[in-house]
Amino acid sequence: MIIGNDVKQWQSIRRQDSVDTMLGFVPTMGALHQGHLSLVNRSLQENDKTVVSIFLNPTQFNDPKDLSGYPQTLEQDIAALETAGVDVLLLPDFEQVYPDNYRYKLIESEFSQQLCGASRPGHFDGVLTVVMKLLNIVQAHNAYFGEKDYQQYVLIKEMAEAFFLRTKIIACPTVREADGLAFSSRNARLATGERILAPFFHKTLTQDMSVDSLKAQLESYGFKVDYLEELSGRRYGAVYLGKVRLIDNVAI
Ligand code: AMP
Repeated sequence: MIIGNDVKQWQSIRRQDSVDTMLGFVPTMGALHQGHLSLVNRSLQENDKTVVSIFLNPTQFNDPKDLSGYPQTLEQDIAALETAGVDVLLLPDFEQVYPDNYRYKLIESEFSQQLCGASRPGHFDGVLTVVMKLLNIVQAHNAYFGEKDYQQYVLIKEMAEAFFLRTKIIACPTVREADGLAFSSRNARLATGERILAPFFHKTLTQDMSVDSLKAQLESYGFKVDYLEELSGRRYGAVYLGKVRLIDNVAI
């Protein structure tokens, strides 16, 4: 596996690569788990070469404590990607990705203001800006995103269409622990009691009940509900267990 932190060098390698080489791309923020690896494996199956990026993007964190407490497991991540058979790992730093120091932003004005966007102001500006930069850097044929962050996937897919990007945006199903909890880098921050409670979030989301009853049920278990809404055939939720914020969604 080639590991590169020089964006300009990567761009010149990319330009020399044959246009026939199908390239798949999986952007991540690291602390890799089985959810990330399912995206990587899908890309490995569907492309000649797979590029993964690990970049903990500060512009999408509206809460500085969330950023400073974000788990980082770079050595294990590199080993897991190497074992999976990834071709290139990009590890750019802030200056490489933001030579403009975030003067230029990509802003969506409707869906990004709802759900997670309503409780995390500026979050999706940071997400869309960094994904646009990474897609432009990597110039892949296919890029893979998890349904676990369904709102993010929809916004990225529609952004790619709006800006006529060459990369096809592909959704991959949410990977869950045996008890139903969606794999998330933030799960590592759950205390033992919180981890036992956490699967009831997904279990409750799948029940055939009104949104108000679901909220009441989650609160009675000890979750603090950030939002729970149904939109376009999907039920979206975000809850707090202590300081840890969990999100999930199911088709209805
Ligand atoms: P992150 O590192 O959290 O930015 O996630 C990188 C990519 O992995 C995003 O496309 C996420 O939607 C995806 N992802 C994270 N958790 C899961 C999961 N449990 N199942 C499937 N995809 C996931």
